[in-house]
Order: sequence, then structure tokens, then C-alpha cells
Amino acid sequence: MPELPEVETVCRGLAKSVTGKTLARLELRRKGLRFPFPHGIARKCAQQRITAIRRRAKYILIDLANGQTLIAHLGMTGRMVIAAAGEAYTPEKHDHVVFHFSDGSRVVFNDARRFGVLDIAPVHMLQASAHFAHLGPEPLDDAFTPDYLAAKLATRKTPVKIAIMDQELVVGVGNIYAAEALFAARIDPTRPAHTLRKAEVKKLWAEIRAVLQKAIAAGGSSIRDYVQSDGELGYFQHHWAVYDKEGQKCPRCNTPDGKTAPLPKSGGIMRITQGGRSTFYCPRCQK
Ligand code: ZN
Repeated sequence: MPELPEVETVCRGLAKSVTGKTLARLELRRKGLRFPFPHGIARKCAQQRITAIRRRAKYILIDLANGQTLIAHLGMTGRMVIAAAGEAYTPEKHDHVVFHFSDGSRVVFNDARRFGVLDIAPVHMLQASAHFAHLGPEPLDDAFTPDYLAAKLATRKTPVKIAIMDQELVVGVGNIYAAEALFAARIDPTRPAHTLRKAEVKKLWAEIRAVLQKAIAAGGSSIRDYVQSDGELGYFQHHWAVYDKEGQKCPRCNTPDGKTAPLPKSGGIMRITQGGRSTFYCPRCQK
């Protein structure tokens, strides 16, 4: 599933390729994805110039010259594939939406499981829309500060990992990045959120931003390869410290070596379930 850094990478790739181009035609190859496409969507964006590509949470926002904004979400399996002008195109099985530009280039929205979204709204209505009204600040924006995070965590008794994954508190901290940030900050993911000390909150704030920025940088470096090879944007390999590493040695304290603390039965990185999702952490160096 694409997380915030993947979506940011897709946005940057799209911005580079299509900003300033005119969307000649929006081709809808089915009636909808997760939801039906809104009535009149193709008419509202026909012959409109793309003025900007932005991201909000995990949504891709495509601003049009007429004041409308296309809202796209990749869901579980969505992909955006860029095809240059003159490149032959034969629709593939899960190509559901094709953006045809006036210069002959295309962007294809492919989504095998169809949990994706494509919607449209006037740009001034976005914030109030059902997609965005409930969302907290962006983790990489100035509004997300250590003081803000401290104030929010202080009111919550849920485990800290559940708290930081709550989109009303901050957007875009998915399951993987929550686990990685808590590991980097040396905080036990099961701790009630309100028990974190100020210094711990500050460390967690910094690590949330660091893991996301690192992943975005990795995505950025993969963009060129992707676009040059097959035009696909957005999925890239990561190297995780704890995510999906159950039973492996901790990359920081190197359990299981049995020297500095009694080992948990499974040894090394442990996997537990929180809120129906797997959490990976080192019970020895995350307190
Ligand atoms: Zn450890």
C-alpha cells in the first residue's frame, strides 16, 4: 500500500511531467473505483490547463485553471504510469482512468483492487470536503511542532503507536513509519501516549519527520529510473530497521546476544498486534 512518501514521490513525478500541460480529455474506462466517479467529472476538466500538483495526506491534488481540483487516492494498489507523446498505448487490464494531454502524452491510473479514488471539487471547497475536513496537520509542515504533539499526546491514554497513526492528530504516519519512528526514538510502542516525557516527545517528533524525509529522498532518487524505464511512479525499495523483522537481531542493541538483558522468548525484534495491525519493536532498547 502506498504510504505518504510514495504518494509524495508520485506527486513530484507528476508535477515534473504534466504541470502546465492541458488536459485534453479525461477517459473513464469504468463507472468508478472505490466510489462512483462524480457526475460531470470529465466535462469539468476537459481542455483545462494543469496549474499545480500537490499532496494532502495521501491524496494527490491536481489543480486546474478553471478553479476545479481533481482529487486522486491510490488506495491499496493504485499506480500512475506516464507515457510520452507518440508512445504506443494499449490499455492494460486495470487501467481505469486515462488523462490525455493536448501534446499527445498520457497518464494512466491503474488500480487492480480498485480501492482508489478519483473525485473533483472547487479548490476553495477542498478543506471542507469529506476527504479532508477531519485531517490533522501534515507531519512535515510547520504546524506540526513538538509542542503540538506533546499537547495532543498528553490527552490520550491509547498506546503511543495508535495515537501517532491517528489521522486527526497528524496525517501520513502509517503502520511502517510509526514502527520505524518509535524504534529510532527508543520508545516502546505500547506506552500510553500521555506517559511520554517532554524530551521523548521531542525525539519522537524529530524521528517521525526524519523517517518520512528519508523515504521521500529515497523515492526521489528512484523517480528518474522509474520514469525512464516504464513510466511508473511511486513504488520503491526501503530498508527497515524493525518493520517485518520479527525474530531478527536488533540493528541497534544487537539482540539476541544475551549479554546485557534477559531476552524475550522470541528473541530480537518482536511482533505484537495493536489495533489489528502488526507492530515490530525491540523490547530491550525501546522503553
Ligand atoms: Zn534493540
